[in-house]
Amino acid sequence: MNYIKCPNCSKFNLNREDCAVCGTSLMISENRKQKQLQERDDALAKSSETDKNGIYERMKNHNLAPVRWLASGMKSIWLVFIGVTTLIALILSVFAG
Ligand SMILES: [Zn+2]
Repeated sequence: MNYIKCPNCSKFNLNREDCAVCGTSLMISENRKQKQLQERDDALAKSSETDKNGIYERMKNHNLAPVRWLASGMKSIWLVFIGVTTLIALILSVFAG
């Protein structure tokens, strides 16, 4: 059951691609509505995507190659940082123990 209101004559049509009264294509307005919803969802997803991983993923898929290189460089630096931090923690625990 899918009632679509005709944008031209405001008649409700059930499961039709064109208006039964004036013949106006109803799929255009329906598609536009879907697109607007999609755009709003995308905007919400982007605004909630503020964590480090989201930024990294966006940089990795960036159009400019240097940005992608920077993203992979950042990942390497981050892995080295985690490794060094773990090492320091291990050394400290050995000295403390
Ligand atoms: Zn109509």
